[in-house]
Amino acid sequence: MPQKIAAGNWKMNAPDLGEVDALARQHPDPGVTLLLCPPATLLAALSERLSDMKIQTGGQDCHTASSGAHTGDVSAAMLKAAGASHVILGHSERRADHGESDALVRQKAEAALEASLTPILCLGETLEQRDSGQTLDVIETQLAGSLPKTDAPLIIAYEPVWAIGTGRTPTPGQIEEVHALLRDRSPADTPLLYGGSVKGSNAAEIFAIANVDGALVGGASLTAEAFSPIVSALEASV
Ligand code: PEP
Repeated sequence: MPQKIAAGNWKMNAPDLGEVDALARQHPDPGVTLLLCPPATLLAALSERLSDMKIQTGGQDCHTASSGAHTGDVSAAMLKAAGASHVILGHSERRADHGESDALVRQKAEAALEASLTPILCLGETLEQRDSGQTLDVIETQLAGSLPKTDAPLIIAYEPVWAIGTGRTPTPGQIEEVHALLRDRSPADTPLLYGGSVKGSNAAEIFAIANVDGALVGGASLTAEAFSPIVSALEASV
């Protein structure tokens, strides 16, 4: 059985770290893997704050190299040293803002694995691609291009670009179709997360879909009030 995971992506936001204490109080012994991915500047402080709690931390990106002349970048080894266990890679905002290709994402995933971090590989189609019937082809191409050539454990997140931060979500059937493809094409037991406007009100329905093993959550991961019901819905689905 793949692990069940509720992962929060804080993006370039710095919520009050007291929110994390509230979340930990509400889920002192979560029946699922709980993970928060803050901006790199907060990673060490958050990891330290969570060291006695059952919430893990992750980065939002890493460089392909372990060190060197790469101004502004952070290596996987540095994330690991700051307490991270995971790193989000290939998020559509990085693909759009920084022109990241599937090949680069694969190299980053290999660097993450080398540093003993678990990559969370993000894939997803644009609205234009969905509307023109290309979704499965796009997902298959992204997966083939960005999945590292190793059996090392990783996590895949299906995040339709048009569902991120928009309040729109695909139908359960649309999510199920993509997750069936991902299950078929990825190593056995790979946790498959759905991401894109997950909230307390739609989480249970999403977690009931075949081959959905959890969620990657943006906006709703910034407060305990919004994230806790999602975690509870995932716990209830186990
Ligand atoms: C994300 O950016 O990974 C995401 C899923 O964002 P949101 O939950 O805000 O749609």
